[in-house]
Amino acid sequence: MKKHNFSAGPCILPQEVLKKASEAVINFNNLDLSLIEISHRSADFVAVMEHAKDLVLELLDLKDKGYSALFLQGGASLEFLMVPYNLLPEGGKAGYLDTGTWSSKAIKEAKLLGDIEVIASSKDANYNYIPKNYAIPSDLAYVHCTSNNTIFGTQIKNFPKTDTLLVCDMSSDIFSRKLDFSQFDLIYAGAQKNMGPAGTTLVVVKDEILGKTGRKIPSMLDYQVHIAKDSMFNTPAVFPVYVSMLTLEWLKSLGGIEAIEKINEEKANILYQEIDTNPLFQGVAKKEDRSNMNVTFILTDESKKEKFDSTWKAAGISGINGHRSVGGYRASIYNAMPLESVQVLVNIMKAL
Ligand code: PMP
Repeated sequence: MKKHNFSAGPCILPQEVLKKASEAVINFNNLDLSLIEISHRSADFVAVMEHAKDLVLELLDLKDKGYSALFLQGGASLEFLMVPYNLLPEGGKAGYLDTGTWSSKAIKEAKLLGDIEVIASSKDANYNYIPKNYAIPSDLAYVHCTSNNTIFGTQIKNFPKTDTLLVCDMSSDIFSRKLDFSQFDLIYAGAQKNMGPAGTTLVVVKDEILGKTGRKIPSMLDYQVHIAKDSMFNTPAVFPVYVSMLTLEWLKSLGGIEAIEKINEEKANILYQEIDTNPLFQGVAKKEDRSNMNVTFILTDESKKEKFDSTWKAAGISGINGHRSVGGYRASIYNAMPLESVQVLVNIMKAL
């Protein structure tokens, strides 16, 4: 029996994707060669890359709208630096929403390249809410936000409205809910939550915003270089890109983001319902800002901890310990997490 995998990332992927991926590692496309031992420039792999990029734009409803999809490396963490390199002119200023650890890390890197204004922050309450009613200065090259705060379990429901460029780190909720993705000029996400294995980073960028900073950009950090080379400026992460393609095919076959969003809401609702009604548990994030991907909660009676922990472990649940900066528990219920696994956790909470 597989475990009920609530890990925050790397995390659960669909079983059928894992099966197809493992087959391709042995014999890809009946070539009698492994996916990971053929040239990335072979027709078979180029087709994978093209299909993966195509599926991204199709699922986000950004096809033929002037966007490019890129599969890069270096994780979302390298995007913290690539974004200002590509969008912040020398002497320019950018605005950041500080909604958690990952936002702060993005701010730290951007400060290497220019003047960074923190427009609003929820650090005062250990990031348990999303700031609202903040003013956005008019002299910014772009505004950066983090759609879902993986560690704290908060999620932006209303994105900043701005006349300047809007950039979003969607590492932990991309492809999980329907949004007007065209409100963003640049989206990035490490693959290892809703898309595939760690090792590739998705970037979706509006072509027309690039090449305007006057900066000399190192080739590997230049989005225009990667666009011109179809994400093959250097050897791409072939296996993570292939598995991402399989996951995106899986999502499309389910009915796309709209369909998965309904399932994600159902999963989050049964878990939050239990947290809100069971006096032994308390949610960490403010209700109106809580995440449908990472559900953070604590026990109100520590004397129950031993029993709770031993029961969920015995039931085959894995990965629900909270991040060290929050404590308590975090149940990550990404796209591939079945409703039945969430029900197993809820039943254990009920019986405690
Ligand atoms: N942003 C968010 C929202 C994340 O959750 C993470 C990783 N969990 C990162 C950025 C960093 O991603 P990576 O490890 O791919 O650099």
